[in-house]
Amino acid sequence: MTSIESSRIPSSEEILKILQVFPLNFQKIYPQSFCSMNGLLYGMIRTDQGKKLIILGEKETLFKDSFKGKILHHAPSLKVCGLSTENTLLLMELFPFTRPVSVLNYPATIGTGDRLGLATSGHIRAVRKFKVRPVFAQQSIRENGQTGRNYKEVIADAAWSVFQENYQEGYGADGDHLKSLDEVKLAIDAGVSMITLDLSEKLNFEAFSLPGEVVGQRFKEEIDPGDAEVLLHLFLDKEFRFSGSRGDLSIRFSEEEVKRHVLLFHQAIDFSEEVHQFLIRRTGRKPLIDFEISIDEIPFPTSPETHLFLMIALRHRGVRIDSLAPRFIGEFQKGIDYRGEAAAFREKFYRHVLISQHYGNYKLSIHSGSDKFSIFPDIGEISQGKIHLKTAGTSWLEAVRLISLKDPSLYREMHQEALSSFGEASKQYHVTTDLSRIPPTKDLIDSELPGLLDQENARQLLHITYGFLLKSELRGGFFKMLIHCEEDYASLLENHIEKHLEYLGVERRD
Ligand SMILES: [Zn+2]
Repeated sequence: MTSIESSRIPSSEEILKILQVFPLNFQKIYPQSFCSMNGLLYGMIRTDQGKKLIILGEKETLFKDSFKGKILHHAPSLKVCGLSTENTLLLMELFPFTRPVSVLNYPATIGTGDRLGLATSGHIRAVRKFKVRPVFAQQSIRENGQTGRNYKEVIADAAWSVFQENYQEGYGADGDHLKSLDEVKLAIDAGVSMITLDLSEKLNFEAFSLPGEVVGQRFKEEIDPGDAEVLLHLFLDKEFRFSGSRGDLSIRFSEEEVKRHVLLFHQAIDFSEEVHQFLIRRTGRKPLIDFEISIDEIPFPTSPETHLFLMIALRHRGVRIDSLAPRFIGEFQKGIDYRGEAAAFREKFYRHVLISQHYGNYKLSIHSGSDKFSIFPDIGEISQGKIHLKTAGTSWLEAVRLISLKDPSLYREMHQEALSSFGEASKQYHVTTDLSRIPPTKDLIDSELPGLLDQENARQLLHITYGFLLKSELRGGFFKMLIHCEEDYASLLENHIEKHLEYLGVERRD
């Protein structure tokens, strides 16, 4: 048992040799997870009851006050532990790299939401190749509702995957699209390292459609006179000038424009300040929590003027952010490429970058960022690599692709289920899916099924129905297949996320 005492990670052969003496049935070992700590050897295996942490050592005394599990063998000793919440906390204490941390100050960051709790090891394989920091755990309350998970489980899944792959660079956990202080508290209590505050429910969209003559009246009625004076003073008779390598930008606000923006944002600004204060109280003056504000899910694109207004008003209240998710022009539909004029996008994006560089050097955050390959090179170049990209659904689609490759009949059933829940699912998403353009699966031979995952309409169909599919009776077979083919799933994800980082121009590691 001398190899157990060494601190290096033993090879697969050595691990298998060590495990031979124990009455242990396992399907797979995760060699990268094996490591020595305080005279014990820790590692992960997969049994027919799922993944387990195993702990091996000479002295049973060392097992006290450690992970909860079953001792299967004495002298040498072996303990097998489940990946429970309690054990997750112990894991984070013993191996601090498994705990989510603030990562957004790193130049390039990518959110790779893992809806299934099975995608992170594939994500790790991709991000290891680049100068990028990942946010592996990234879920909105809506996603958790669809998948039947909560933030603690989401973070635990990421933490165990990080341990399994021995990824020690640091990763984030994002409570995405949180809309109330209670949701923020829930996510913070579960251990997230990032908050994405969605302001959409605090915005008064009517402000931009009111007739001109009503604006002044509303402003008078709704805005506290003290606030009104301050805000008018901040913006009126001022020219905001920005310059950069691709040209200059100058913004002026008329009195009516200021008033419309105040009407649009005044509740949202109070709310942002309240949440920011809460984060400071919880984590200190320099919040250890990455703080993003999102206005991407609103009915109109965010103009540079609106972006600037929000940032100046927030700064005036002492609110500092790490990233902002505007709604960009064109369409960022889920799981498919950008739709719109690339040249117009480039120009507007540049203006947003200029403003972000001058007002706190926060990042622009690209939501629904999956598969926007036609504009990734521009995004990477114009932002000079300082960007946060959020993807999630695309990793779900790779899981569906895996099913189409490995179990065509299960795929056919899932496809059918997706078609029957599409009507209901499409109420929650903005998509332009044309079901009539998806060939009926009965007309396709098995080897043609994976090709559906390359067609926009079928991608959207399978993308937005994930909640229904995961709640259907197909769930069990789906997960079984993904676990059985976990290496294949990891490879698909590795390639797919690598393609995203490559197109964005993120620098590779040597
Ligand atoms: Zn979003």
